[in-house]
Amino acid sequence: MTLFGALQPFVTRRHVSRSAHGCELCGAPLDRDHAHLADVDRRALACACRPCALLFARPPSPTNDGHPARTRWRAVPERHLRDPSFRLEHHEWEALGIPVGIAFFFRSTAAGGWTAAYPSPAGPVESLLPLETWEAIAARTPLARVLEDDVEALLVSFDAGPDGNGGDCVLVPIHACYALVGRVRRRWRGLDGGDEGRAAVAEHLAALRDHAAVLAPEAS
Ligand SMILES: [Zn+2]
Ligand SMILES: [Zn+2]
Repeated sequence: MTLFGALQPFVTRRHVSRSAHGCELCGAPLDRDHAHLADVDRRALACACRPCALLFARPPSPTNDGHPARTRWRAVPERHLRDPSFRLEHHEWEALGIPVGIAFFFRSTAAGGWTAAYPSPAGPVESLLPLETWEAIAARTPLARVLEDDVEALLVSFDAGPDGNGGDCVLVPIHACYALVGRVRRRWRGLDGGDEGRAAVAEHLAALRDHAAVLAPEAS
């Protein structure tokens, strides 16, 4: 896999100008809070109007042989969920080998399983995942069980500093990860991000956390 691996195709530099051209399926004008569809075949993210997104919001119905029919477009859910009981230990974060304090984990159909990436000033960097370690961690949170392949990610942050509260995890739409990557690209300075860079990322994470609903116990 190339440097950015499974992630790079999703990064839409032209996102703003593309959304200005309207829904990529039907051409309807889009407002700032439009919906998104993942193009599973091209591994790209498309801006879409609500009616088009609704059309693809349900999982494909099973075919005659009982397997879900494969569809090219998958709606990106807008939900944000958190699991207040989940905590990541320092040794676990170290075992994952992520060089910065934040990473996102998602299941990619094309890659055939879990993929991890972290933001950097050069864009998203794919991280080689020690799969057993990650699966043991993921098994502790129902967020990993409800996560939809390709279109949602677990955003895991770890703050080992004196004020840090260990690691936590928020389930977010996949495009929220790219918004974070964009923020790091614009604001990060030097290796540790600098005061402004770190503050910008902390602010973004806090906003995602505040926005997130607690995962209902019946979902676990
Ligand atoms: Zn449309
Ligand atoms: Zn968009």
